[in-house]
Amino acid sequence: MKVIFLDIDGVLNCKRTPNPRKFPFIVDPALLNRLKRLLELSGAKVVLASNWRYDPAGMFSARHYGVPFIDTTPDLPNQPRCNPIADWLQRHPDVERFVVIDDEDDELDDLPLFQPSRSTGITEEMVRAAADYLNGKTDKDMRHNKLVRIFQNLGSLVSGHKG
Ligand SMILES: [Mg+2]
Repeated sequence: MKVIFLDIDGVLNCKRTPNPRKFPFIVDPALLNRLKRLLELSGAKVVLASNWRYDPAGMFSARHYGVPFIDTTPDLPNQPRCNPIADWLQRHPDVERFVVIDDEDDELDDLPLFQPSRSTGITEEMVRAAADYLNGKTDKDMRHNKLVRIFQNLGSLVSGHKG
């Protein structure tokens, strides 16, 4: 089995996603279609790693928008963000390839990360790269370099945007 550990905020929604009523849980249909394309190209299944998973309203919204997922990572409070993923993988030894798609890389250590910018969410380019990774064509992931990251963090401090 191939698995995508999926974050939602900054991946399936972005700064450009219209949200006039400022709902806390929204999905951008165009970005969701990119995820679906990735599933077609790779045959992978989605495991929700987003914070949405431990808020009942988040889980409701994920289903409402039709985010296709088969499971969620466990809720392990006060543990680094890589631990719920490691825990899930330990309980599913049949996973051959996996990626993490998350706009933030803190506490994800050396996991194969595809990291969209929260201004765009998941891109076409990332869909192709993640599909190649999941299909075993490459071992290259897509992380922001440190400088871009620092700049982004500064930017989010200034704008008060929470990813
Ligand atoms: Mg996020």
